[in-house]
Amino acid sequence: MYEILVVAITVVFGLCAGSFLNVCIWRLPREGLSVSKPRRSFCPSCEAKISWRDNIPVLSWLLLRGRCRACEKPISIRYPLVELLTAAVCALVVWRFHLQIQLGVLEQQPGLGVVVSCIALLALVCALLVAAFVDADLRILPDEITVGGMHFVLLAMLVFQDLRFSLASKAAERALPGNLVPPSIDTTGGHSITSMVEGAVRDALGGLSGILPGWELSTGPAIAVLALLVLFFFLSGSFCYHLYRRWRLPDESNGFFDVSLAGLLCALSAGLLGALCVLPGFEDSRIAYNLASTLLGMLTGSGLVFLIGVVGTFVFRKPAMGFGDVKLMGLLGGLAGCWGALTAFFLACILGSIVGIPRRLISGDRHLSFGPFLIISGVFVYLWPDAVDSALDWYSGLFSG
Ligand SMILES: [Zn+2]
Repeated sequence: MYEILVVAITVVFGLCAGSFLNVCIWRLPREGLSVSKPRRSFCPSCEAKISWRDNIPVLSWLLLRGRCRACEKPISIRYPLVELLTAAVCALVVWRFHLQIQLGVLEQQPGLGVVVSCIALLALVCALLVAAFVDADLRILPDEITVGGMHFVLLAMLVFQDLRFSLASKAAERALPGNLVPPSIDTTGGHSITSMVEGAVRDALGGLSGILPGWELSTGPAIAVLALLVLFFFLSGSFCYHLYRRWRLPDESNGFFDVSLAGLLCALSAGLLGALCVLPGFEDSRIAYNLASTLLGMLTGSGLVFLIGVVGTFVFRKPAMGFGDVKLMGLLGGLAGCWGALTAFFLACILGSIVGIPRRLISGDRHLSFGPFLIISGVFVYLWPDAVDSALDWYSGLFSG
């Protein structure tokens, strides 16, 4: 009974959210229109205001038989489809949380924290849906979503620590870098990247403390040192990126989000590395785990697309990848982790060729937005890291015979 109620609420919420997403998809990339102004929805053909009874998700479209009440011009079937798709995706996310509860990863009685993290994830997934449709329509990935989403993912992974879904099976067998096994599940293999980095830095520090006898940090001063380190790296990271923008994009102004994100990434990486070395027991904490996998995933995702873009531009002598894809993969990598980012990219290439090659043969259209495929596979890989694990198993099985 409880489950049916949750599903019903989710679907109704998803339909209404989908209706709002339709508005965002239309308005976000267009100059002079904002999501909140004008307040009322209007018909794109005759600009007549749409009354509330013609604005009920899916139902109104069916009742009006897909035509505007004022001008009788057809309303695209995409509007109800986006609403249904949003409802389905929302249900999927909620179901995934339900699964986490059943697996015993989350507590049985979902508390406020779980509900809030679920809502945060729903908001992010909805924003990604908007990005997918805007990119498919206009080949634009709005910075509001990609860069804003990167900020959001970093913060959300810190605040809502349940957002990193763990492998259901064989969690401890293989510690994948970026999909490091969460501490709550326990880890036996110590081959993760953080432990390698940590080991290296510990060794280096060990050497140092050999030179400086009696040099040992207690927690209080260690936190102070860390805070200074983080501040320093935030400022210098922001400043370097600011200089980079001045050099590369002299015409574009106001990269406040980008600049602060660069600073934030630098500060967090430095802080994380520092904390692993100086704070006792920090490497066992879930925050460290979430931070490490999110940062690694962001770097892997955007780094991979950036590299392919640079090489592709060099080889084909025209832009091979948009910079929007780099930012998008940063966001998706942050969600899915390092291996998740690689798998999602690979999956997106397969999906893209399944759709793109026939499309090119039939209509001769060379341009295919890559964003929607990245988003579909990124979200899938994030929600089901197990799928990545089995795919890797299958892949390694090919060679072991
Ligand atoms: Zn109309």
